[in-house]
This record gives sequence, structure tokens and C-alpha cells, in this order.
Amino acid sequence: MSAPLPVESKPRTPSFLTLAGLMSAALVFAFALSLTAFAQALNDYAYDFLFRLLPPAAWHPESIILAIDEATLTKYSGVAGIRGALAAGLQAIAPSRPAAVAIDIVLADESPIPGMDDNLERALAVTTKPVLACELLGDGAKWEEPIARFRKLAVALGEVHADLDRYDAISRDVPLEKVAGHDRRWILALAVWAAARGVKIEESPDDLSAGAVRIPSRRRDGRTMRIRYAPLAMGGIPRISVGELESDPALGARFTGKTVFVGLTAQTAMRDRWMTPLSNGVAMSGIEINANVYETIAQGQFLTDTPAAYVALACMGLAVMAGLIFAWASGWTAYLLALLPLVASQLIPAFAFAYSSVWPWLPATLTAIAAVAAAAAWKQVRVRGELTHSQHQTTVYQQAIQFVTHEMRTPLTAIQGSSELIGRYATMPEAKRQQIAQLINSESKRLSRMIETFLSVERLSAGEMELKQEHFSLADLVSTCVERARPVAERKRISIDLQALPVAALTGDRELMEYAVYNLLANAVKYSPPETCVTVYGDIRDHELRLSVRDQGMGMERKEVARIFEKFYRTKRAEQSGEVGTGIGLSIVEQIVTRHGGRIQVESEPGKGSEFTLFLKYAE
Ligand code: ADP
Repeated sequence: MSAPLPVESKPRTPSFLTLAGLMSAALVFAFALSLTAFAQALNDYAYDFLFRLLPPAAWHPESIILAIDEATLTKYSGVAGIRGALAAGLQAIAPSRPAAVAIDIVLADESPIPGMDDNLERALAVTTKPVLACELLGDGAKWEEPIARFRKLAVALGEVHADLDRYDAISRDVPLEKVAGHDRRWILALAVWAAARGVKIEESPDDLSAGAVRIPSRRRDGRTMRIRYAPLAMGGIPRISVGELESDPALGARFTGKTVFVGLTAQTAMRDRWMTPLSNGVAMSGIEINANVYETIAQGQFLTDTPAAYVALACMGLAVMAGLIFAWASGWTAYLLALLPLVASQLIPAFAFAYSSVWPWLPATLTAIAAVAAAAAWKQVRVRGELTHSQHQTTVYQQAIQFVTHEMRTPLTAIQGSSELIGRYATMPEAKRQQIAQLINSESKRLSRMIETFLSVERLSAGEMELKQEHFSLADLVSTCVERARPVAERKRISIDLQALPVAALTGDRELMEYAVYNLLANAVKYSPPETCVTVYGDIRDHELRLSVRDQGMGMERKEVARIFEKFYRTKRAEQSGEVGTGIGLSIVEQIVTRHGGRIQVESEPGKGSEFTLFLKYAE
């Protein structure tokens, strides 16, 4: 008797599709997180870092600051004397013929000190191209302008309203325009630049242009422009105070041809001092920031955001890279190669920055980390799965060997016993001798059939076996099988009802097809109680030949039906019925049928019966 064999289901390993899904999830995760304010703050810090790490080459500044510093203010008796200091400064630089002069002090009211404004008016009258400051009033609805006597002397007005980063009060960029109602003004630095060059500013949705210069600043981003602060190596924008200029008039020559920014740097009087990516704890005065905005435009040192599509593409590239690495490499090689997307995610922003393109740091970094982590986890699970799978295969193979040796023992024992009998008795009645010879013959045939089937099956499942291409009729095939099964059925008083079959010719390996059909019949008989009926019938529907074997036997649960084609699987009912079986037959039947281009379908109900149907290719 065959020993029931243990059943192990095939272990699952995560597929490449799962890997692709994981990489997409990593991307979505990185993009989603990149939309948060926290991500924005991190991107800004990375920007500041690159700003310090990769300064541009030093240039000759076109601007100079005329500072009203602490010492100057003291000399001009404090805040009340600012206009006096301003007038003195303007008078002092006038003979040097600067290119233009931007005055970062809003002259919105009259001075209470007699003669002060007359003095300033005279100074403005001799100033080359003065540009005066205006500021948005607190509610943002109106401009605070210079009073008429000053306004009429100015070639243009420029706004001086400070806007800081939303998250950390670091001045990284400025809007080049400000609007109060319908009244739009350019920022002071841009207004004075246009005045110095004598150009008019033209607008388009993506940039502002004047002459040959194009300033990338999109309208929908509020015409924002990143400020390229003069690198520390340049020592910032040159600065001379009004006080210094008065005590050393020769310094006036430094202003020739330059655009002058006049404003307060004295800590006591100054409202605007801001941190910049370059500040090391020391804030920069508003006038200096203005001069830096001017230099950015004058030098064409624009830093623009990398288009989002490029960032998305690069992130996809990194995710694909991480996926491919873990799909094709394993062990340390994979982990070493995984450094590639990680390093790339850090190098891309740096390279881009070197070419004046600002990449957000977080999306690529997050994508690389998430994709590498997910791909590595996928690999771990997959390797473990493959290991279990190969262990499973070994077990299946061992089971097969056990089965074969076990099955062979029965005929071998019979042959052995019979040959011993012949050897033991010198003379033996003829009938007995005939009987023993027949037994040896039939048992060795059984043995060789068994070996033959087993080998065929192994080769069949390895895809090695060439099928014979014979032509035979369906009716022939089925009646051969039915006749072979009838004696077994009769022993259980089971009738086999062979109904009329359609006329159809089959092509293939007749021996294997007989094996398949006979197996279905044998199972129907085996798993049915006595006094029942097995029906065999066939028909042609939708250009398909169907051959069905229906029984009134024990049937199966739906869950069990899904597994009966696995090697060595037997249902609980079958095990308990005491019927001998190995759970191999149906797996062979399925292979034979599919190798013949057909398929097999099962319908079954516990306690009622089962129906196995073969769908086969045929010729009429
Ligand atoms: P074996 O019959 O040697 O166990 P098979 O591969 O032929 O192996 O069948 C696998 C299992 O499918 C059987 O053990 C049995 O549980 C179930 N089975 C097959 N045919 C029937 C049937 N006609 N009725 C009920 N159960 C069946």
C-alpha cells in the first residue's frame, strides 16, 4: 500500500511586478512628502549650504554703497540729521559722475528743520539720474511716495519693501515688482538699473527683459528673483560712508561710472537688517541687499528653479536605478551599487547649482532613500522565498523518490517470492509453474510500466519530451479506457454509462491521452460508493470538443478543487476513504492535456459527485 505523502504548498516569492509597485510607491511617498512646508525648509537649508559651498567667480562690482553709518549720524546730530547727511553725500559724489544714484530713504514728508529740504533739493538737482524710494503702506493699498519737490527731480521711483522667506526670515529672493491696487512699481535695484543703462523694461509671462538682458522671473510666481549675493571672497559690495568721504574727498573718484546706493547702515537708525544665505550670524543691511539685487541683474547671475518635470524625471530615474540594481545584483554588490542612486541624489543638486539651476534637495534624496530601502527589503524577502522554494523542490523530489521505491517494492516482492518458489522446488505441477511464470511476467510488466510512466512524467514536466503526433478517433480512445476500467468498476458494482460521442479525430500521443482519460475514469470509480453510476459523454460546442466524466461520488470542497492538480495533494475525504492513492495522477493528466493544447475543468459538490471535463483540439 502506498503511504500517504505529505503535502507542501509552493512558497510565494515577491515578483518583479511587486518591485515595480514598490518603486512607484517610493516615488509617490517622496513626492507627497516634498509638498510639505518641512520639505520646503529642508530644501532652503540645502540651498544655503550649496550657496556657500559653490560661490561664483568674483566679479568687478558695478555698484557702490554710500553709507550713512553710525559715525556720520553722530556728526549730523542723529536721526533728525539724516537728510543733511544725505544731501552732503550727494553733493560730494556729484562731481564724480556716477551712472545713477538710488536713494533708499523714503522722503515722504517735509523736514521740520528749516532749510533742510532746500538743501536736499539742491543736492538732488546736481545728482545724476536719482531714483527715489517709495514704500507700500501697511495695508498694502497705497504707495508712500516722496513729496513733490523731490519727486519731480527723480528719474524713477523704486519700491523698497522687504519680503522674507515664509519659513525662516532669511532673504534668499525678492519680488521684482510690487502692486498697490493697479499701481505697479519695480524694486529699487531694477528701477535704478534700467535708469543707469537707459533701457526700458519689457514684460512677458516668464521674464522681464531690457535691451539684451533677460531676467527670468515668472509673473505667476510674483516675479520673484533669487539674489546672487556677492561672494565672500569679493568682500561684498564696496562701501564708503558720507563721513569718510567728507574727510577724504579723493574717495569720490570711486563713484565714477558706478551705480550708487545711498542708505542707512547705522544700527541705531536702521529698521531693515536681514540674514542671507551667506550671513554667519551677522545680518545684512537693506541697502546692501538692494545693491546685491542690482549686481545679480547687472552681472546676469540668475539662479533659476529647475523645471519640475526634470526633477520628476530624475526621481523616476533614481527609482528605476535602485530597482534594477536589486533586480540584477545581490549580496554586497547590490548594497555597494545602491550607493550610486544615493550619491547621485546628492550630486545632482550640486552639479545643477554649479550651472545656476536650483534643484529642490528633498525629492531626489527621499526617492533614493525610499527606493533603495524598499528594493533592498524586496530582495531580502525574495532571496528567502527562493531559498524556501528550492528547499520545497528538494522535498518534492525526495517524496517522488520515496514514492517510486515504495511502489516498486510490491511487484518486486512478488517477483522475488515467485523466483524463490521456482528455485526451491525441483519439480512443480505444470499449472503452478504456468501461474508463477505469468505472475512474474505481469508483475515485471507492471514494474516497467510504472518506471515508464514516472520517467515520462518527469520529462514531460521538464518540457523535454517530444509528443508523438498520432491520429486517432475520440470514440476509440474513450472505449479503450472504458473497457479497461470496467472490471474495476464491476468489483464495486459501479456501472459505466458510455453515451454517444461526437465523431472527432484527435492528434497527439495516444498512449499519454489514454493515461489521462483512464485516470479520470479510475478516479471516478475509486472515489464513488458502490451501486452508483459513472457517466461518460462528449459534445462539440463553440468549436471545442468536450469530454466529460461524471460520478455520483464523494465530491470535493471548492478550496480542495483548487489544489487537486498539485503533485501529491489528496483531499481529506479521499484520505479517510481508505482508497489507495498518491496524489500524482491528476497533475500528470493536467500536463498531458495542456501539452496537447487543451485544458481541464472540474465541477464538484461534496457528497454529491464530481464532473471532470477535458476541452480538446480536434479535427472532424
Ligand atoms: P490519487 O487518486 O492517487 O490520490 P489524483 O492526482 O488522481 O491522486 O487525485 C488527486 C486527488 O483529487 C485525490 O486524492 C482526490 O482527493 C481528488 N479526486 C480526484 N478525482 C476525484 C473524484 N472523481 N471525486 C472526488 N475526489 C477526486
